[in-house]
Amino acid sequence: MPVTLPKEWRSSDRQLLTCPARWYLANAYPYNTLTPIWFIRGNAIHAAIESIIAEGLTLDEGLELGATILTDGIGEGVDLWSKTDPDPETAIYNTATCIRTWWQQVHPVSEERADIYKTLDWPPRVEVKLTAFGAMTRIDAVFRLTGEPRTVVLVDWKTGASKSDDTQLWIYQRLIEEQHQVKVHAAWFHNILQGKIQQANPYPGDDIIHSTLGAMLALRGAGHYPPLHGWYCQYCEAQDMCPIQPGDSDLRVDTLSPTEVRWVSVTSPEGMSRWR
Ligand code: SF4
Repeated sequence: MPVTLPKEWRSSDRQLLTCPARWYLANAYPYNTLTPIWFIRGNAIHAAIESIIAEGLTLDEGLELGATILTDGIGEGVDLWSKTDPDPETAIYNTATCIRTWWQQVHPVSEERADIYKTLDWPPRVEVKLTAFGAMTRIDAVFRLTGEPRTVVLVDWKTGASKSDDTQLWIYQRLIEEQHQVKVHAAWFHNILQGKIQQANPYPGDDIIHSTLGAMLALRGAGHYPPLHGWYCQYCEAQDMCPIQPGDSDLRVDTLSPTEVRWVSVTSPEGMSRWR
């Protein structure tokens, strides 16, 4: 059956590299996917933060917006809960914690603002679009270094316990420098659930970008999306469709074509499987 794959990419699209089948099934058959709490909670928190930045909402208004989006999402049904968010009450609590921690550590009116943000202009640009091989990806926030308008810092807000992979920020760095003619001073993941900032290692050169983007491009170009079993299967929103999962499901897809592309599995220092 012909399917339409999205033209827009998000950081989660790196799932294509950890399990091509997951990415394919979730995008090709979105109405057959499960709804995980971390999607709903992440959307609620990102929307609240973007509105605080772009529309000047107060902390209380941001908290209210986040709670409303989360509650509406939970009301429509949650299929996968997590250790971090085992029930609605905890999800609501964690959402408020993320928004409040973000405000305390990032917003310029906060007396507890982290030093690392004090040399950056406010407000950052949010949802900066980048083009990669005919598709789009977005950065959560791009700050200008104060006094140096063409030097920027890239930030990705993390709202849960998922692993961070520097490659994501390196791809952003490579693309934004090329497409927006700016110099990236630093890039970091800011886990606003735990209140921790994790700076990316220095950009290692284009080889990693070529291998990562090349792998994604080749997979899409080849049109083959093999399932790769891993720890992330437990969090997979496409597990009811996955051909290698046990159990009966009317949604199970029989086969996904074996890849024609030769891949070698490597393990990054962060322990994530990567393909190149
Ligand atoms: S259940 Fe595991 S192997 Fe199957 S699509 Fe999901 S992540 Fe991939």
